[in-house]
Amino acid sequence: MTREQEILEGLAAQDNLRSLKTLRAEGPSVYHSDGHGGEKGYCNLSSNDYLGLTDPALQRRFLLSADAERFLLGNPSSRLMTGNSPAYERLEETLARLQGAETALVLGSGFAVNSGVLPAVTQKGDLILADKLVHASLIDGLRLCDGVRWQRYRHNDMEQLAALLARAQSEGYGRIVVVTESLFSMDGDFAPLEELARLQQRYGFRLYLDEAHAFGVYGPPGREGAGLLAAYNAARPALPLKAEYHAVTFGKALASVGAALICSRETKELLINRMRPLIFSTALPDISLEWTRFLIGLFPEFGPRRERLRELIGIVNDILRPGNAYRSQIIPVRAGSNENALRMVAALRDEGFWTTAIRHPTVPQGEARLRISLCANHTPDQIEQFATLCRQLG
Ligand code: PMP
Repeated sequence: MTREQEILEGLAAQDNLRSLKTLRAEGPSVYHSDGHGGEKGYCNLSSNDYLGLTDPALQRRFLLSADAERFLLGNPSSRLMTGNSPAYERLEETLARLQGAETALVLGSGFAVNSGVLPAVTQKGDLILADKLVHASLIDGLRLCDGVRWQRYRHNDMEQLAALLARAQSEGYGRIVVVTESLFSMDGDFAPLEELARLQQRYGFRLYLDEAHAFGVYGPPGREGAGLLAAYNAARPALPLKAEYHAVTFGKALASVGAALICSRETKELLINRMRPLIFSTALPDISLEWTRFLIGLFPEFGPRRERLRELIGIVNDILRPGNAYRSQIIPVRAGSNENALRMVAALRDEGFWTTAIRHPTVPQGEARLRISLCANHTPDQIEQFATLCRQLG
């Protein structure tokens, strides 16, 4: 047996073999081959298009409004060579204005931001404390931090974080960075921003906050879509939380591609000089940068979509998790074993619902789940039917 066969057979034995399926996802639906040369449509509960912006009507509006034929569809150079087109500057200005920040640095993906920023801004003698459930891209970023000590604290456990910060005070680290997400990608729960603000006031750490799943969806009145940090700071001006490194991505609620770090000019300059995914990777095409900027410009218009999403979140939670404190557009449906998760996925698919099983080792053994994400273009009836079915299967 080859090494490849051995590894793949091992994964199959644990019900953990992945495969790529050819799918066409658009708004609330996803289409898959029906096995007879045609397509079958499913209600898509597996996309991060939370606001339903993969919308042909919006695309047409963009293409007409932006004189988009002029935009190059590729950008065969890195930003430091000849790829830094004016569209980058326009988008970075838009982001900085939205966040009330000095500036922003746009990159090709959230993975590039998360794996590239921490190694560039930390050095030997620093300490990083990261929530146990932060995204794989952040874990890779931690692994790339040369000579930096890092430790993970139990998910959202502010008591443990406080104890680690107190201990670190006496250990004389250069700089301490706390890393978390505002809305967690797998569990759909929120970081306790107020507690973090309190700890930041006391211990003065730098915060790295990943808002991949909150950007576009949440925000304070008048700055809808800016994210949960903006919402928190607008609600609690007396106890502000500062994120020195504030990551947002465009491939989820924005239905675009790319990501940005909202930061100071000084941090940006350092990153331009030290961040490997920026220095050694191809720039984004203007068409993507401008599409992202176009959608951010429409944030105030998306109120009805956010309202509908809130309604759907309420329906699912009332049926599947009454009394649950966290209510977001990401809902983990517990399945237990990998095998049971796959069984639930198949049963839901038979009923026209497309979900994906998240299995061990992505999540701990016995905690396999379906990660449900809602889209503003789902109908309340669809979602009620889905949640009821889940409860029956559950
Ligand atoms: N951060 C989080 C929390 C994510 O869930 C993801 C994507 N799954 C990323 C970062 C990576 O973003 P991108 O897909 O733009 O690389």
